[in-house]
Amino acid sequence: MRKILVLLILLLGAAFVWNRWPQPVPQIPAGVALPQANAPAGLRFSLVKTADAKTLEAFTYAGGSLFKTAGINHIAVLVEHPQGRFLFDSGLGTEVEKQFATIPFWARPFLAFQNLRPAVGQLETANIAAPERIILSHAHWDHASALGDFPNAQVWVTPEEKHFVDTGHPPVVLPTQFEFPPERWHLYELSSGPYAGFDRSLDLFGDGSAVLLPLPGHTPGSVGLLLSLPSGERYFFVGDLAWNQAGVTGPHRKFSLASKIVDLDPDTNWKALLQVRGLLDANPKLHIVPAHDEAVQDAIGYLPNWVQ
Ligand SMILES: [Zn+2]
Repeated sequence: MRKILVLLILLLGAAFVWNRWPQPVPQIPAGVALPQANAPAGLRFSLVKTADAKTLEAFTYAGGSLFKTAGINHIAVLVEHPQGRFLFDSGLGTEVEKQFATIPFWARPFLAFQNLRPAVGQLETANIAAPERIILSHAHWDHASALGDFPNAQVWVTPEEKHFVDTGHPPVVLPTQFEFPPERWHLYELSSGPYAGFDRSLDLFGDGSAVLLPLPGHTPGSVGLLLSLPSGERYFFVGDLAWNQAGVTGPHRKFSLASKIVDLDPDTNWKALLQVRGLLDANPKLHIVPAHDEAVQDAIGYLPNWVQ
């Protein structure tokens, strides 16, 4: 037991040293200006905060401080468009304790959460009808936990991500979260052509106001959602491309040890991150919203607060 403890401390120590090690200057590709969007009146979004956690900043990105804490959120993004209502990710759901018990014991301390408030209850309280579809940024447990709480919603993923679900296992994919009738799955292709430097995209409503973009690496079929609001403000929900905004603005990789466990292909994820950083350079007013960045989301506000 003592040997294992010493080994664990050595491993963590080495990871922290590597975390602070100077990295080569990244090559950021030049971004292009975002195309115009025809955002319809009534398009709006609200962040539904379903749980949170605290960790050390050092655990969230390479170069982060060992002495600062960082807030982690688990959110669902509720989007209302005149043509339909959907969730981007589902947050933690009513069955999460049971689901969590299927995660190996060694991983649980790193994934602990608190202040659970599943989206389904919050929507009911706010008198908001259930969404017609849930589009997953990716299929990791903390994004797919509440699929069972909305049994009538279609579950949107790319074929690559569906394959990842079918072959995945704990701690990242929890098969119990996907035990629903197969007709709920809706597999889509990013078939609307290139968009702002991305080779593929899917324009969800045909008006450019809600566009899915490929951000592979964290998982094979990870996507981001670019929302363009009637106000002209634009929000890019980037899932787990980075765990906080500093990851994109830095740019910084994730904490090395964590990245090895959760990023299926860290180098592909890094490439996608640099592309988003280039897009931000070309569109400095773009709001980058990582799925877990509490500080960024606190500034936006939560349901019943809407952004339009
Ligand atoms: Zn996540």
